[in-house]
Amino acid sequence: MRAVVTPHPGDYDVMRVAEVPVPTLGPREVLVHNAASGVCYHDHLIRVGVMRRGITFPLILGHEGAGTVEAVGEAVRSLNPGDRVACTQWTENCGLCRFCRTNREPLCAERKYFGHDRDGTYAEFFKIQEDSLLPLPPEVSFEDGAILSCAIGTTLAAIRDVGGTQAGERVLVTGAGGGLGVHAVQMAKACGATVIAQTTSRDKVELIRSVGADTVVVARNGQFADEVKRAAGGEGVDVVCDNVGAPVFDEALRATARGARYVLVGELTGDPVTFNTARLFLKGVSLLSTTSTSRTQLADVIELVRAGRLRPIVTERFTFADAPRVHRLMVERKLSGRVLLIP
Ligand SMILES: [Zn+2]
Ligand SMILES: [Zn+2]
Repeated sequence: MRAVVTPHPGDYDVMRVAEVPVPTLGPREVLVHNAASGVCYHDHLIRVGVMRRGITFPLILGHEGAGTVEAVGEAVRSLNPGDRVACTQWTENCGLCRFCRTNREPLCAERKYFGHDRDGTYAEFFKIQEDSLLPLPPEVSFEDGAILSCAIGTTLAAIRDVGGTQAGERVLVTGAGGGLGVHAVQMAKACGATVIAQTTSRDKVELIRSVGADTVVVARNGQFADEVKRAAGGEGVDVVCDNVGAPVFDEALRATARGARYVLVGELTGDPVTFNTARLFLKGVSLLSTTSTSRTQLADVIELVRAGRLRPIVTERFTFADAPRVHRLMVERKLSGRVLLIP
């Protein structure tokens, strides 16, 4: 099969299309004929060597995919060849620990990250455990299906479940033009919130408005807290869904209201931040985080998309050979929403 292989950490061109063996299946694993692979900033952080934990090279990147079941291991019960499926971002969780038993599989000590600890979706076929796959209804395309878990499921985890967003609250989404951002805006609207969206790109304002943001704030010289507070009626926002991390942390924290929940979702630079912790407790602000998507959260996202309550934003499609160029465009912030590699 054809795959985009990253032989070792390096610059964009380190990734190349190669012919590799089709993965062989364990008893509880499923081989999926991949129709589309989402491209995530996480992939860049692995490729460039910023993320190291659990990673061995050569590696097939990508944790976002959807397609048709090609073959199933002997112990697989819920899926058959020909079924349309979408996947979570992890595999090999134990299924038994307190996290697996309470719909928090991403915290399982045994789970492996797909396209990180294990070969992922930048390939014609990928293998993943049965528990990481859910049926994709006929109303949802493969291209939309490929981005449900990471680009949408993570925002559901952050805004609805960890952030506990209530109808009538005010939510700040940072990096609102990106793959998570455009879906975080929609998720906050689906929860009944007023949404204030922050971006650094004037070019992305129209897209962010089109997905439902009530106010779009374009940060100038990194500053946006005062404008966000004004848009939130003066005191600030109740929930922050922060898809950017260190570069915006100080301003986003300044934009919070009393009792706010600040949910860390993305970290683009890995730079440390320093802040006076009294800024949290004097206002009763909770600092929270989430990563990845549980099986039940993916099921909820599939239903939201199937019912037309949330629209996956796929803006561009590329071939495997374009992978180096796609990573470059992503790092240079020239991409909006999610883009796909089509096998
Ligand atoms: Zn991702
Ligand atoms: Zn477990």
